[in-house]
Amino acid sequence: MKAEIVSIGTELLLGEITDTNASYLASQLPLLGIDLYWISQVGDNQKRLVEVLKRAWQRSDLILTSGGLGPTEDDLTREAVAEMLGEKLEVNTELEGEITKFFAQRGVKMPQSNIKQAMLIPSASALNNNQGTAPGWWVEKEGCILIAMPGPPGEMQPMWQTEVLPKLRLRFKKAIIFSRTIKTFGLSEAAVGELVSPLLSSTNPTLAIYAKADGIHLRLTAKVKNQSEAEATISHNEARIKSILAEYIWGVDDDRLEALVGELLIKRGLSLAVMESCSGGLFSSTITDVPGSSAYFRGGIIAYSSKVKIANGVSPKLIADYGAVSPEVAGAMAEAARGRLVADIGVGITGVAGPDELEGKPVGTVCIGIDDGKKKKVVAGRYPGDRARIKRRATTAALFELKKVLVTY
Ligand code: AMP
Ligand code: MG
Repeated sequence: MKAEIVSIGTELLLGEITDTNASYLASQLPLLGIDLYWISQVGDNQKRLVEVLKRAWQRSDLILTSGGLGPTEDDLTREAVAEMLGEKLEVNTELEGEITKFFAQRGVKMPQSNIKQAMLIPSASALNNNQGTAPGWWVEKEGCILIAMPGPPGEMQPMWQTEVLPKLRLRFKKAIIFSRTIKTFGLSEAAVGELVSPLLSSTNPTLAIYAKADGIHLRLTAKVKNQSEAEATISHNEARIKSILAEYIWGVDDDRLEALVGELLIKRGLSLAVMESCSGGLFSSTITDVPGSSAYFRGGIIAYSSKVKIANGVSPKLIADYGAVSPEVAGAMAEAARGRLVADIGVGITGVAGPDELEGKPVGTVCIGIDDGKKKKVVAGRYPGDRARIKRRATTAALFELKKVLVTY
């Protein structure tokens, strides 16, 4: 079963809109166990559209299109499918009635151009669109299925969910594609790749490695009949990855570090405060992305200059002796945040976001301090990237270290 997505619209080729319909559909196909082989984009031009559709019809078993079902002259998907299959477009009176009714309910007369949305070819049946006037098409012929959906995501997605997905499910319930993502922080993509290299040649499950803003993700993907078989297929390799990358792993699948940290703080009944320098408030912003964070997050001080660090309780001598970017100062910032903001745990973040080095420390140097009043933990690391990425890495590093501390309580 080979599937292909065809996204239709000149706006795509001009770079004016991003092809989110293709990514949405691509993320849906694994749920059906359908392999996606190609994604094509084509403008509102009938000749080129017919060309792309012909090629798709020859090489794929399932074609999903979006766009070009509107009422205007440049909406040509119906015309192109009809031409490709050598079939004639005809007005379907039932569809005509529905579209007329859609306009009548809004108190307007149907513009004549909308009549083309009531057209079908003999191989097509209509897919209901409860968000707009353009019905979709389900075309089936010569063992091939073509499904044409409207371009606006607000119409395409409900049509996919209610009209298309259930029908496809009935046909393709033989296999599902199941994934498990394991999320790590602290190792480079290359280092992770080397450590798990024996698993990279496995074909079911496959293993892929991705560098993301919150660390390196490893994704195991299995093609299986059902959920329980999925667990059995991936469990062996999952356990091996977990033992190899042990302390670098912080979560799985949809886990977010800031949410995991929040859960742990609530569970332990602890409050949090931060003093951040190089991250410029991003740690506080990220922590407060989590609903309910006011239960444990006292607040943050953005101590970007040494003056503000000192005014908020960091010893000037420490800064003079070790420099503002040092594990010692990160620890003092954590302690000061804890004291100033009356929290159980204080975090300090200081580093060099670049583009120039600072105090002889290279760009990307990040120091994290965590202080709970009894113990102080300080770590230093170095991360690649521009200013925005280093701020993000510094925030992730602080959350990662904080989580490691919290699980030991
Ligand atoms: P169309 O049906 O081709 O006239 O498209 C109508 C509108 O739907 C466009 O102006 C876009 O806003 C949106 N749209 C069309 N195709 C896509 C796509 N592939 N991804 C995201 N949005 C799209
Ligand atoms: Mg259009």
